[in-house]
Amino acid sequence: MPQPPFRPLATSLIRKTAGLASACTLTLALIQGLLTYHSVTDRSLSRLEDIATAQAPAFAEVLWTVDRTSINLMLEALQKVGDSGYAEVWTHRSNTTGYDPIPEQASFDVVGSAGDPRFRTTAASVSVPLLRPGLAKPIGELLLTIDPALVYREVARAAGAVLLSSALTATLLIGVIVWVLKRDLQRPMSRLSRFVADLAADDLTQTLDLRRPPRSVHDEIDRVDQGFRLLQGRLAEHIQTLEDKVADRTAHLELALSELKTLSTTDALTGCRNRLYFSQQLDTEIQHARRYGRPLSLVFCDIDHFKQVNDQHGHAAGDQLLKATGEILRSELRGSSGDWVARYGGEEFVLVLPETPQDAAAALAERVRLRVAEYAGIALPDGSRLRRSMSFGVASLQVDESESALLQRADQRLYEAKRGGRNRVVTEAPAQA
Ligand code: GH3
Ligand code: MG
Ligand code: MG
Repeated sequence: MPQPPFRPLATSLIRKTAGLASACTLTLALIQGLLTYHSVTDRSLSRLEDIATAQAPAFAEVLWTVDRTSINLMLEALQKVGDSGYAEVWTHRSNTTGYDPIPEQASFDVVGSAGDPRFRTTAASVSVPLLRPGLAKPIGELLLTIDPALVYREVARAAGAVLLSSALTATLLIGVIVWVLKRDLQRPMSRLSRFVADLAADDLTQTLDLRRPPRSVHDEIDRVDQGFRLLQGRLAEHIQTLEDKVADRTAHLELALSELKTLSTTDALTGCRNRLYFSQQLDTEIQHARRYGRPLSLVFCDIDHFKQVNDQHGHAAGDQLLKATGEILRSELRGSSGDWVARYGGEEFVLVLPETPQDAAAALAERVRLRVAEYAGIALPDGSRLRRSMSFGVASLQVDESESALLQRADQRLYEAKRGGRNRVVTEAPAQA
């Protein structure tokens, strides 16, 4: 779902405040306008009433003499002063010839008027009876209307003043609110949101600094700030713990893997390298020797008359002797780094001697032969000891020789050692010059 556009919280608050303040200002101006309208109208009417009452005897006099010119002149003079928009004198139509009292509900006759006649029906008015001494009923009436322009001017002035002062107050207040909101809300919130947006699990080092002025109380923003710091710390701690655990597990796994590798490349009975390892590693040793022109020798070793051991003393004794033989071979090679021994199959072993020329390999084979021959032997259940000699065939890698050819030559020398009477080392005669 698309995200709505971003607008800072403070901006939204400011907008709302400004909208409400404008509405309040307008309402205030409207109320002030209405109040002014009523008060101005009341005041004008009372002023007009005073004037009309004061002038009534004079108008009664001229009306009595039916002096229309004077009436109009007086009305014009009256209309021009004060708040009057229209002035009129009327009498009962039947009174225009004689001056009997005006009967109720009679139609009237306007004797004279001045000003805008529309105001007669549209503006507020006062009328006073024109009385003659000696007559019980009035002979006519003097009517004065307010000048609406005067009222509207006053209303506009009063409402305008309120509008201006309220608008100024509101603007000032909003300005202060904007400043406070920006300082106390918008800045810390935007720093907070930037911090949260930049927070990544692989980088928890960034610090949160809201840069708020010192205060005697703390608020929601402080709590969010504290919450994030706490969360950041705990997250970092958690990740560190996880990393430690992963490192620990990795170390365990690596150890287990290396043990597994050792196991998978080791012969379980004798502790020597197994045939699989021999095949794979010999290839590497030959390549190394070829690349650097270094010597490499192999010594095939086979226990003499081993079959009899199984036949005469049982398979378990045979296994015991194989194990002891493996230990002797390994211990003899332990001193020379790079040399290693593998169980080639059955009671046959092979010594792999990198960096070793043929004569040195032959000397080592002889040393091993003596060690085996001198071995006290395994203890049998009857208390006697059992041991077997070994025969050795030595061969060194020749230039451009294949792996199988080298193995074959070493095996051939071993065969010769067997044929020659066993318990001996057979090395190839050095090439004839
Ligand atoms: P030679 O001197 O000619 O080598 O005679 P040998 O009897 O040692 O040789 P041969 O190849 O005839 O016999 C090897 C015997 O080794 C046959 C087999 O029973 C025995 N053998 C092979 N592997 C094992 C093993 O893992 N455990 C035991 N106990 N015997 C084994
Ligand atoms: Mg044998
Ligand atoms: Mg054999």
